[in-house]
Amino acid sequence: MHKSGMPAQDDKRKGMKFGEYECISIDLGNFYTDGGAMFGVVPKTLWKKKIPPDKMNRIPMRAVSLLIKGKRRNILVDTGYGSKLSEKLNKIYGITSCPDIDVSLSRHGLTINDVTDVFITHLHFDHIGGATHIKNNQPVPSFPNAVYYIQKKQWEAAIHPNIRDKSSYIDDNYLPLKKNGLLKLTDGPEKLFPGIETIVTQGHTPGQQHILIKGDPIKNEESLFFCADLIPTSAHIPIAWNMAYDLDPLTIMEEKAHFLKRAIKENWILFFEHDTYITAARITEKNKKITLSEKVTI
Ligand SMILES: [Zn+2]
Repeated sequence: MHKSGMPAQDDKRKGMKFGEYECISIDLGNFYTDGGAMFGVVPKTLWKKKIPPDKMNRIPMRAVSLLIKGKRRNILVDTGYGSKLSEKLNKIYGITSCPDIDVSLSRHGLTINDVTDVFITHLHFDHIGGATHIKNNQPVPSFPNAVYYIQKKQWEAAIHPNIRDKSSYIDDNYLPLKKNGLLKLTDGPEKLFPGIETIVTQGHTPGQQHILIKGDPIKNEESLFFCADLIPTSAHIPIAWNMAYDLDPLTIMEEKAHFLKRAIKENWILFFEHDTYITAARITEKNKKITLSEKVTI
């Protein structure tokens, strides 16, 4: 058995400590996506047992952000789909509302002005939409005092999109960050802050970045890994269960196998950004198969 993180002190409802940081999930809304698109070549007879689809073959999804507080920083990981989507896209994705992030932050004693860093995994609209909002008919940064971190490769992918995922990139979500001087383009994995590292993958989209909040390995503490679209829901833990959206299926399978092995070896809890039912979980390996072993509330 490994040692669990301690429940956060000021919020008994949820939250967990990893190293010197308190980590809390922030719910940024529900949406629906075509089940076939979410599971690629996996037969519907299999995936429908994990996440049953509605009459339109859509499965329920969530946009969940992660708030990391500690060492005088308030870091937000991804910002959900936001409030700027067109009526047409809201209808396609079954979006009826966008939770107000100010309200969520206020529960933790913060305002949008207190957010110091916004870590964007990639620029698909369901991850970065909330990074900007409309004010006086103009898109402006939602967190005016924050530095926004985006991988250079992903920025290039958005600025010069390919025909395959062009529709996932919306300029108003990220160009205002550059215009207002809040953008920091990064190049490859790095130690972002003490106890927080970034990990970069390429299979879903070039330069997708993940965040790893590390527990103390000497004390055998757990770490928290933000999976983003490498493993969007807990149903995507099996190596071959991937999305039709992934640009490079073979690469994502290799990456997933690699990071799941590391997760077992280094006591990582996995954080699922799109899972309606399970925000985070511990995993285990049995007969060479990696499966979910325990849900975790964060
Ligand atoms: Zn994506």
